[in-house]
Amino acid sequence: MNLNNYWIKRAFELENSNFVKSEETIKRLNASYLRIAKNLRDEVNKIQDKIDNINIIFLDDVQAYKYRQKLLNDLKNKIYDEYRNLSREEINVTTKHYKDVIENTYKNISEYLGSIKTDASFSMLKTDAIQDLLSIKWLGENYSDRVWKNTNLLAKKMEDILLDGTVSGKSIDFMAKQINKMMRVGSFNCERLIRTETNFFHNRTTLKAYKDYGIEKYEFLATIDSRTSHTCNKLNGQIFHIDKARIGVNYPPMHPFCRSTTVAYFEEEQLQQEEKDSIIKEWKGIKNNANYTKKESVSILKNKYGIDFKDSRKYPIDESILNECVSWLDAFNDEYSNFMKVNPCKIPIIANYPDSKMKNSVGYYSYYSNNTKVVELALNAKYHSDKDYFRQYLDYVKGNHSVANAESIHTFVHEYGHHISNSMRWISNNYNWQSEFISECIKEYNDKYNTSYTSYREFRNIVSIYGASAESELFAETFAEFYGGKSPREFAIIFGNKLNKILKGLN
Ligand SMILES: [Zn+2]
Ligand SMILES: [Zn+2]
Repeated sequence: MNLNNYWIKRAFELENSNFVKSEETIKRLNASYLRIAKNLRDEVNKIQDKIDNINIIFLDDVQAYKYRQKLLNDLKNKIYDEYRNLSREEINVTTKHYKDVIENTYKNISEYLGSIKTDASFSMLKTDAIQDLLSIKWLGENYSDRVWKNTNLLAKKMEDILLDGTVSGKSIDFMAKQINKMMRVGSFNCERLIRTETNFFHNRTTLKAYKDYGIEKYEFLATIDSRTSHTCNKLNGQIFHIDKARIGVNYPPMHPFCRSTTVAYFEEEQLQQEEKDSIIKEWKGIKNNANYTKKESVSILKNKYGIDFKDSRKYPIDESILNECVSWLDAFNDEYSNFMKVNPCKIPIIANYPDSKMKNSVGYYSYYSNNTKVVELALNAKYHSDKDYFRQYLDYVKGNHSVANAESIHTFVHEYGHHISNSMRWISNNYNWQSEFISECIKEYNDKYNTSYTSYREFRNIVSIYGASAESELFAETFAEFYGGKSPREFAIIFGNKLNKILKGLN
């Protein structure tokens, strides 16, 4: 697939995901409009009853008149109360939704722009930047002004209809119909507002990302379906300078309910070159072993990383393996210093345990799932005390049970991969971080190699049998392939490039 086409496909997918996100918000507010219609119908019923009985209660005309005015005034207040509450609810609910749209859009666009523009790195939007975007006025108003305006207008119309009807003695049936009609108008206006503002925030955030990443041109993309307007159809495929972008003129939304979007535009050669330049084929940290003595390694772990090293007395760790582990950690620490700083999960102990304590595993990473505490990273001394034996074992499993480039650092890096995944769960404040990350890698792989994998279970040949045993193992195995050895394969390269950007973008 041509890369420009690939980004166009993603741009449409992103627009659609924001469109689908609106659904729930619209549904929830529709229910509120229905609820208010019901409240008002009940109220009209009650008041009509009281008005019908006025002449029975009051003999005095003046008193009756006054009482009637009071009832009408109560009705009026009720109408405005209901709509005031509705406005507040609508603003609350939609603000949450628009924030979500802005975050989702910026994250998505940054990922793709970050993968093309080598000088920029993936980043999240800061809270005040989201606030800035939310308060942008467009055609003289922002969304909350529009909500107030819509509901005020609706309350005014409702007041006219209901007071008029009550005074002139219209039937309850007639009034109920009027209330329902106004409710539908309100509900429709609310949906139109949410659809249009969602498109506005989606595209406005995209424009901000283009500017942040120094993009020069964009292409207008109309969602071609039966409802595509003439204006959008005409703009479809046209290319404009970012500086010249004007919402409603050459940048969407062009009209209410608009679903058009844009994509960053690159000249084909520029795209291919930048894409080529930016892909990391191999992690540079794998080569630099430091020649630490065992004593030095232990002291670096303690003093630089706050990690205690617990060795097996009977089967002490091989000095060069420990050196590889610590050198690797140094390289990782240098490359991802921000990650190391912001990570709330700290490994307190690296242990080299006798086989009897390891229950047949070559290593493990143990942590708490409900807090940031890590128990330990353990290595099996049967393998780690004897490099030759470990190598023989690896020769036997690699390229099949284990990844193709497994070397004596493999188990340590694999377990460290589990640590990265656990840490990212807390740093991103997203319990499903690993799942989402793996899905994105699979999707990218499918797009690039024209395959249709859906689950970690299908990655036996692409990663390893062990990697296909669980999603967490696919993460750890692929992590080990990219960060722990030479010449990682295609899936590991996609994984590594993606993770690299995320880890570098933390601040
Ligand atoms: Zn349109
Ligand atoms: Zn594992």
